[in-house]
Amino acid sequence: MSNGLYIHIPFCIRKCHYCDFISFPAGAAQIGQYLHALQGEMALVSAHMTPEEKNLTSIFLGGGTPTCLNSCQLGNIMANIREYFTWPAGIEVTVEANPGTLTLDKLKQLRQQGVNRLSIGIQAFQDDLLAKLGRIHRKEDISKGVTMAREAGFANLNLDLIYGIPGQTMDQWQDSLARAVDLGLEHLAAYSLKIEEGTPYHEAYKKGNLTPCEEELELEMYLYTIEFLKSQGFHHYEISNFALPGKESRHNLIYWLNHTYLGLGPGAHSSWRNRRTANPGTLEEYVTNISTGVFPAQVEEIITPEIAMAETMFLGLRLTEGVDLEAFVQRFGVRAEDVYGEAINNFVDKGLLTLKEGRLHLTRQGLPLANLVFQAFV
Ligand code: SF4
Repeated sequence: MSNGLYIHIPFCIRKCHYCDFISFPAGAAQIGQYLHALQGEMALVSAHMTPEEKNLTSIFLGGGTPTCLNSCQLGNIMANIREYFTWPAGIEVTVEANPGTLTLDKLKQLRQQGVNRLSIGIQAFQDDLLAKLGRIHRKEDISKGVTMAREAGFANLNLDLIYGIPGQTMDQWQDSLARAVDLGLEHLAAYSLKIEEGTPYHEAYKKGNLTPCEEELELEMYLYTIEFLKSQGFHHYEISNFALPGKESRHNLIYWLNHTYLGLGPGAHSSWRNRRTANPGTLEEYVTNISTGVFPAQVEEIITPEIAMAETMFLGLRLTEGVDLEAFVQRFGVRAEDVYGEAINNFVDKGLLTLKEGRLHLTRQGLPLANLVFQAFV
């Protein structure tokens, strides 16, 4: 089993129009409170962990925008991780970054602190789309950021792109993909834009001022992405994720393989000791809990064997190589075909799932209908 550590850094320079993540602009005082509380949470949680549980297999600093912290603040977080957990050499350590917050000095410091993978949220290569999304960066910041990351010694780069943006054309999407590949990255994540409640995008949509991307165009963009990135040597290994061979995200594989992870920071979730827990979503409550010695994580769900089996199925089906049926038997002592025979047969008959070499996976036809398939296992 893997032990992933996720740290949520809830700060951004400015809120993007489509974003419903726990993130907000903050001043020095709030950042100071957060860093102090995060160290407190590490001390509190690690004191109750076994040496095996503390032995990390991957680390991921996400957000928010971790790189809106300065080098010293990021360095303190890394030092705290080393103090309270076991950080073996060679594990994947990712930091999410925004191109508008990168400097060569900060990137060099991150490398020195042991970060070996950078995940840069670029989203699009067209300034008009970036402005509509409310992003702080512009096209020219993207290649600058990637060049600086390489100069700082990062040999494992992911870029996040978004398709299905209101007003985005197929030409623009194709251009973004081509430009991203031209930058010579190792990993690319392509997500479709969702208009989430509580965002300025949703407000505009409700008032009739925002027209969502047509489903047909969104599907065309997705299918083009698969074909194009495959033709460029990328392995399509998860519904939205593409990697050069051997560069698949080890941390994200923990989620899709339904392994164990610990989340720290406001709003972070954990799947740990058969419990799913969540930290308070506001900085104030998070800081108050820790300053009074209260575990911030609240149990949301006890993960029974039935829940674990269902999750292993629908998360594993996100991977293009699908669910390893022998590993399923070893983990749960029962065949997936015996638990989910009806659903499996139904979707195999419809051509959305297929069984091959001991693995159950989505077909090409099933990929765009993945959510429909997943519901049968919930
Ligand atoms: S940079 Fe990311 S986390 Fe921050 S507001 Fe924009 S989408 Fe949200």
